[in-house]
This record gives sequence, structure tokens and C-alpha cells, in this order.
Amino acid sequence: MTSAGPGVETEAAGGSDRGNPACADAGCGAIPMPAEITRAIETRIGALKERGGDCSRYGTVLESSYRSGRITIRPFMWRVGKNLTSGEAKPNGEMMLAREIDSLNVGVRTVDDVLWSMEHEAVHITFDLASGIEATEDRANRIVHGCQG
Ligand SMILES: [Zn+2]
Repeated sequence: MTSAGPGVETEAAGGSDRGNPACADAGCGAIPMPAEITRAIETRIGALKERGGDCSRYGTVLESSYRSGRITIRPFMWRVGKNLTSGEAKPNGEMMLAREIDSLNVGVRTVDDVLWSMEHEAVHITFDLASGIEATEDRANRIVHGCQG
């Protein structure tokens, strides 16, 4: 865990741990949610609720975070401790997500990548899964995976 406090999500990002990321403090501010993300969330929420079961459960949590304006999009990934992070969530439904990896666009985060992070964070909240532990991270990813397609 990091010093960021309990319940804060830390996602390691493979291969991007190189020097200082472009997202310094000033560059890490929130950006308005891009329209393509808004459209994707709306569609995903509907699909998740239609699937029922676990998908519907976390879809409902995601919808609640989204409708109450508790989803914050940052332009780039940021650092929590040593790890470059693409998403963080708190038990109260607040979440932060990175739109792109960094300002140099080394690698690309597609809309689907952002959605995956968002669903992953919603699963952490919904099923009270600890972050940064391999077993619970795997479980979170399995749940999201099971609700795709
Ligand atoms: Zn996680």
C-alpha cells in the first residue's frame, strides 16, 4: 500500500516505469470528461445492467459514481509511490482515471482501456476487493473480463 490512504487503488502499469512521467503535478489536473468516454460509459452501464449478476452489481455502482459526478478524468497516468497509475478508487465511489499514458503519447490508451480501468475500479468498490494484492487484482480482472463481449 501507499501513503495515499486506505482504499486507494494503485495500478501498476507494465513497461511505463521510466523516469519522471510527463504528468507532473501541474499536468495531472482533472480534465472535462471527453465525449467519447461519456458515450462509452453510458453504453457500458446499459450493457452491464442487462447482463445481470455481478455485472449488474458493479454496473450499478459505476452508474452511481458517474451520475453523481464522482468520476474524475486526468489527462495522463500519475505516480503513486513507485507505480505509474491508471486508476484509483475510494470506497465512497470516487474514482480517478487516466485518459492517456503521458503527454508524449508513448503508447495509447484507447477508450476501451479507459473503460476497463473504470470497470475494474467499480469492481473494487462493489466487491470490497483490496487493491495492490495479486489475488484480489486477479479476481477483479476476472470479474470485468466475465462481463465483456
Ligand atoms: Zn485493481
